[in-house]
Amino acid sequence: MKYYNIPIFVPHEGCPFDCAFCNQRRITGADTSMTARETKETIKEYLDTIPKSERTVEAAFFGGSFTGISEEKQIDLLEAAYEFVKSGEIDGIRLSTRPDYISEEILKRLKKYGVTTIEIGVQSMDDGVLTAAGRGHTRDTVISAVSLIRKYPFKLGLQMMTGLPCDSREKSIATAQQIIALKPDFVRIYPTLVLKDTYLEKMYQRGEYTPWSVDETVSVLKTIIPMFAENNIEVIRVALSVTEEISPNGALVAGPFHPAIRELAEGEIYFDKMCEVLDKDKTKHIFYVNPAEISKAVGNGKRNIKRIYEKYGIRIKIKPSDALKKGGITAWKE
Ligand code: SF4
Repeated sequence: MKYYNIPIFVPHEGCPFDCAFCNQRRITGADTSMTARETKETIKEYLDTIPKSERTVEAAFFGGSFTGISEEKQIDLLEAAYEFVKSGEIDGIRLSTRPDYISEEILKRLKKYGVTTIEIGVQSMDDGVLTAAGRGHTRDTVISAVSLIRKYPFKLGLQMMTGLPCDSREKSIATAQQIIALKPDFVRIYPTLVLKDTYLEKMYQRGEYTPWSVDETVSVLKTIIPMFAENNIEVIRVALSVTEEISPNGALVAGPFHPAIRELAEGEIYFDKMCEVLDKDKTKHIFYVNPAEISKAVGNGKRNIKRIYEKYGIRIKIKPSDALKKGGITAWKE
């Protein structure tokens, strides 16, 4: 069964806030108001391009703070998407919003109109970081929103960021720990980038904010990605998609931009695991990993193979094993 989502962007709509890092209009490439008619057209267009069977499809309202839009507009957009749920053409509706825009009344409405998945922008569980990022809510707001959502049968996703103003390696790891304690079904992790026309850009230009480097970010990612995996919480995305806007030629001003930052971090996780084996037993030169993970274990440009040779003087081999889950590794002698 393949999963498809039909993205419907509601840029900045419903959001009276200006988080320091956010320029949703530029990220989504859309700056007009979404209407019910456009919602239906978008869903129809996508449905024409995806297979008719062996699939799960959700309409996904992303971009702004959906539940902060006027009630009338929310119902308008939800009704438009719900028609396709009722006709069986799509399987559900997902949306993203802020933790302070969650209430019993809102959740009842979302349930009534076929919403299946709610994603909450947590960003940090450190109140100092939340204040510095201009989020306008606290850690407690997140905890209250999650406990309300958990009274309903929604799938829950939580989004966190690394490298916000006042953040640190320790605070990002603590945020991941506290998110794990909230038991979401999945998470997204976004390293902070400085984008044009944001307050963060002004802070950066005034010397008040120094973005994390790619190396600092990878070092945190390689620590927190396994923490989520160990707790059976899927990390469905790391970093914003690279688009014309999110690139050095677009709105990107500074920050840990790398088109394959997740792969870099996952390559590091394998490197560390192989070093752990070799530190104990240097006769184990063959490493088996899940077939889908070979390129991560080998590393970009055979980076891990080369680094192991430099560190231990050993030429390791990496082979596939169907018996291993993603992330698993076993080592054997030649
Ligand atoms: S709440 Fe979300 S949409 Fe609104 S400014 Fe912050 S990040 Fe952007």
